[in-house]
Amino acid sequence: MALDRPAAPNDLNAFWMPFTANRQFKKAPRMIVAAEGMHYTTSDGRQILDGTAGLWCCNAGHKRPRIVEAIQTQAAELDYAPAFQMGHPRAFELANRLVDLAPDTMAHAFFVNSGSEAVETALKIAIAYHRARGDGARTRLIGRERGYHGVNFGGISVGGIVNNRKMFGTLLAGVDHLPHTHIPENRWTRGQPEHGAHLADELERIVALHGPETIAACIVEPLAGSTGVLIPPKGYLQRLREICTKHGILLIFDEVITGFGRLGSPFAAQHFDVTPDMITCAKGLTNGVIPMGAVLTSAAIHDAFMTGPEHLIELFHGYTYSANPIACATAIASLDTYREEGLFERCAELAPYWEEGLHSLRDCPHVIDIRNMGLIGAIELEPIPGEPTKRAFAAFLEAYDKGLLIRTTGDIIALSPPLIIEKAQIDELFGTLRGVLHAIA
Ligand code: PMP
Repeated sequence: MALDRPAAPNDLNAFWMPFTANRQFKKAPRMIVAAEGMHYTTSDGRQILDGTAGLWCCNAGHKRPRIVEAIQTQAAELDYAPAFQMGHPRAFELANRLVDLAPDTMAHAFFVNSGSEAVETALKIAIAYHRARGDGARTRLIGRERGYHGVNFGGISVGGIVNNRKMFGTLLAGVDHLPHTHIPENRWTRGQPEHGAHLADELERIVALHGPETIAACIVEPLAGSTGVLIPPKGYLQRLREICTKHGILLIFDEVITGFGRLGSPFAAQHFDVTPDMITCAKGLTNGVIPMGAVLTSAAIHDAFMTGPEHLIELFHGYTYSANPIACATAIASLDTYREEGLFERCAELAPYWEEGLHSLRDCPHVIDIRNMGLIGAIELEPIPGEPTKRAFAAFLEAYDKGLLIRTTGDIIALSPPLIIEKAQIDELFGTLRGVLHAIA
């Protein structure tokens, strides 16, 4: 495009949209122009109740004054500074805040720009950690079927989603996958399912196959969100922790969705009382407002790198925007908002009410399972034979028309509203959804 010829601002063609059926979308676009509190505003002036906190990230809702102000103030004061060989106060403040919020053994924060980058960073730290300790044969990684760990090469390699992997070649070598924990015995469970802790023992089989001395880390989402809300069976995460500890394997919790109050605790690690060696987080870290992620690590991991001469760089890794000042200020304002409004506690308090509302949809047409924890819910629909995803996508479109944003993955509807949701809005959400499920039947 010539510089003297202005682009047509309303042409939809140039933007290649992520994870979107582009050709279909551009025939009937859905355009969001504003957001506040629990609602989005569409280009045709309709209000849409945000049933998903954007993409599981706007935990305090939208356009929160404290966050807006923090961004403006920071941009006017220090807009950008490298984090390589220099620092700025907000980065250190945020690292301290995160370490305070996280389980006791988390002692350091490494800043990145997204959940995907947090995952790549954690996997690289895991391999480099073993090497730093003279255990360089530990390079294998273990993920899980139906795990979502972002879209970069490490993340899709340990991830277990066929569609996200199949176009992209050989991926990382030396990766195994645990079975997922979503088993039919657990249908209609409220909260943590009873069955399936034994599925963690599959880790022993993988360890026996390759030898523990070859395995660097095991990464799981404590509660898998993106593939349809798979809640860990009772005892499962404890068992994974035991096996990892026994064999010197680092356990990484990918808390990109579960971090920052979604289950009623700062992190799922605290909710389930299982402590990993590293936590990846993003999304709610900045209330979704500015891209940012972090890897939290134990002191033991960090300290393994701090042994060489002091003038040398310890870890050859980092991003231009690591600890970006505006992102740090946004994160601090988000954490302040969560704390001042008691949003994590609020989530825990609302969870039983949410659970009742969600499970009241059990009798709706084509519903074959419902599950929930904290302010997360999933409604699984019976797929139309030969046309997977079609039924749930029809629900998404119908809900959008009726003024409600839901998220679908396969034939599963996933719900994760901002933690500021009111009881009346929970009623509205499930009332609308009931209408949607009947309308598409
Ligand atoms: N890990 C998990 C568990 C996630 O849910 C996501 C995003 N849904 C990611 C990683 C990737 O995060 P991002 O899209 O910010 O790269």
